[in-house]
Order: sequence, then C-alpha cells, then structure tokens
Amino acid sequence: MLDLEKERMRKRAPKILESLKKKKYDAHFFETAAQAAEFIKSSVKQDETIGVGGSVTLRQGLGIVEALREKGVTVYDHWEAAEDPARRLELKRMQRAVDVFLTSINAITLDGVLVNLDGGGNRVASTCSGPKRVIVVAGANKVVEDLDAAVHRTRNHASPLNAIRLRRETPCVETGTCNDCSSPQRICGMLLIMFQKPGDIDKFTVILVNEQMGY
Ligand code: SF4
Repeated sequence: MLDLEKERMRKRAPKILESLKKKKYDAHFFETAAQAAEFIKSSVKQDETIGVGGSVTLRQGLGIVEALREKGVTVYDHWEAAEDPARRLELKRMQRAVDVFLTSINAITLDGVLVNLDGGGNRVASTCSGPKRVIVVAGANKVVEDLDAAVHRTRNHASPLNAIRLRRETPCVETGTCNDCSSPQRICGMLLIMFQKPGDIDKFTVILVNEQMGY
C-alpha cells in the first residue's frame, strides 16, 4: 500500500471501528500484520480448538496457523488435506464445533457490514453459527464504501482471483470477470451478509489491518 493510502485508512478506521462496536463486534485496528498475529496468538488459549477458514490472508499475510500450532493449540485446517477429499470435508465439518473459528472476509463496509462469498459453504457457516468465538481478519484493501460495493467486490474481484488461483474450470478463469456461471466447479455459490454480530457466537472479533492482505 502507498503511504497515502495508509494515512487515509488511519483516518477512516475510527469510524469503521465505531460502526462495528455498535453492531456488537469486538473491533480492533492494527498497523501491521505482525501486530495482528501477536494479538490473535494472545487471544487463544492453549487448550482451545481452532478452525481455519479458507483464506489467503491468514496463511500468506499472517502465517498464523504455524504460530498457533507452535503454541500447542489444536488446529483444524482443511487446506492441509487438499489431496484427500474425504478428510478435507471431515475437517470442514469439525470447524463447526471448535472453540474459535479464524477466518478472513471478502469485504467490509464503512458502516460495519461484513460480506463473505464461499464455494463449499463451510466458511460462511462457521462464521455465523457453531463456534463459540469467531476472529475475522481483514486487510485495508477489503474496505469499501457500502453494501453494493462489497457485493460487487466479492463477486467480481475476489472470486475470479480465487478461481484463477485454484485453476478452476470456470468462465472467470478465461475472461477474468464473473459470468454468473453454472459450472460444476463454480467457486462462489453462497453469499453471507452480516448486518450485525450473529446471536449464536459468544464473542466476535474483527481485526482490521493497515496493510494489503489477500485479495
Ligand atoms: S459465478 Fe462462475 S464465473 Fe462468476 S466468479 Fe463464480 S465461478 Fe467465476
């Protein structure tokens, strides 16, 4: 990110945090991914179980999965079973019953609405019901003006990039834009819009980081 973009985010962050807190989220802003990772590590107890949603932000931006394992925490991460579909699905289902579900989101609006798009459904399901606690991490690049921009971002930016990363056989991999396809390998069938903290989650932490993380 440019220094000017970071400065702009510092000016916007208080309003975003205030909006999130009004919606009953536990909201935090950190300048760096390293600070966010330290905060997450200190927020999780050694005897807790953690589910990790599909997220480039968490793995490439934070490196938090390894850090939590080093701490002795039990981590259920379906990305580690990429070659074993049965185990992958089992891990996704286990994520619904963890103490803490850790994930990212596709977009966050200035007035504190969170938007997530998903293919399998595990990420959106575990974000709004199942775990006792949820921790969401979002880079500054995920912040948008309003709900329309958030939905547009998830469908026309994040999803095609994810499809390209995963080498799916979908139209967006060929064209770079969403064609609202009915491909068997469609990556984006479920859209979750969170207008406030889900009642089923005891504590929902949103961490905004002043860096570009994921896409
Ligand atoms: S609907 Fe199809 S074309 Fe559009 S982003 Fe999803 S997978 Fe790609």
